[in-house]
Amino acid sequence: MNNQLADLAERVKARLDTIKDPISGKGLFTSGRVTGLEARSDGKVSFTIEAPKDVAELYVPVRDRAEDAARSVEGVSTVIAVLTAEAAANAPPKSAGGVARVKQIIAVASAKGGVGKSTVAVNLACAFASLGMKTGLLDLDVYGPSAPTLLGTGAKKPRMRDDKMLEPLDAHGLKTMSIGYLVDPSSPMIWRGAMATSAVRQMIDEVVWGDLDVLVLDLPPGTGDVQVTLVQRVPLSGAVIVSTPQEMALADVRRGLAMFEKTRAPVLGVVENMAYFETPDGKRAHIFGEGGARRVAAEVGAPFLGEIPIDVALRESCDAGAPLVATQPEHAVSKRFREIATAALANVARMNKPAPTIRVK
Ligand code: ADP
Repeated sequence: MNNQLADLAERVKARLDTIKDPISGKGLFTSGRVTGLEARSDGKVSFTIEAPKDVAELYVPVRDRAEDAARSVEGVSTVIAVLTAEAAANAPPKSAGGVARVKQIIAVASAKGGVGKSTVAVNLACAFASLGMKTGLLDLDVYGPSAPTLLGTGAKKPRMRDDKMLEPLDAHGLKTMSIGYLVDPSSPMIWRGAMATSAVRQMIDEVVWGDLDVLVLDLPPGTGDVQVTLVQRVPLSGAVIVSTPQEMALADVRRGLAMFEKTRAPVLGVVENMAYFETPDGKRAHIFGEGGARRVAAEVGAPFLGEIPIDVALRESCDAGAPLVATQPEHAVSKRFREIATAALANVARMNKPAPTIRVK
């Protein structure tokens, strides 16, 4: 089996060498630009192309050609080629850590803060775990990390191993990492772009994520360059966009969708948070308007994953560091999260289907 995989990887390397590296003129693999090449038994092949920062644009068509070339190798079902604009020497891939052994990576995004993105990310992760999946949560909100509060990990610090790899913290059945674990919460969180980028790289590549079925990324709010660069660093299976029903927020959903279009990650769907408030007599008050996110999703052709009401128990569970889905699994809102998790997984399977291979006898 391993021999077969090694053979598949070798054939992919040889095929990549049929493409010229635009700078050295050598074959793309021989040039050293391709790192972290991995072939899996299901035919999934992933690798990174490390482009020099100042000429990264040159490598966009190279990435596309490399993806096509790898896909044309017999036995390959899907190909994920990630383009990074870094000097290769800066980031030697470490086999023990990183996300190489993570089956699905799902980003949770929102166009602005305060819509409940982190609340959804954490509870969605707990919902995946409750469905029996080995789940991780990576809080990438370098500007306002919320995992230490939402998960109740407080001042606990991750352990650094002898090989300088960080061990994620276990919380509520999840493997978790957050910039909030690494930086003293009382120190001012002023991040310059470069610092944020290196912190993010550390949390992806230098953490012992191990074998996970799914890793949920809590992205920083917004749809700017920071977010685009970030999602380009990891082979995403797709993105979940969180919005509230207000019209303003909906304009932002469109921006979120456009961002993921750019990065070629499928949008698994839109979650409408704070959709309504249920009064004690069972009536639903649509405080922010009704069904807006569902409408926008339909308009732009993205799936709608479900609604989460405004709920006091959900808010209190966040403040208490005890995610509702993990601590009150029978709560109606927890059930909603499990339904949303199931719908998102169905879309991962549907949208990442390998292209059919034609075998000629
Ligand atoms: P974001 O990550 O988008 O900035 P948060 O997840 O931190 O937003 O949520 C902002 C605040 O709103 C938090 O206090 C959270 O507890 C609360 N909140 C989020 N969603 C809900 C909800 N559906 N019902 C009640 N409170 C919510």
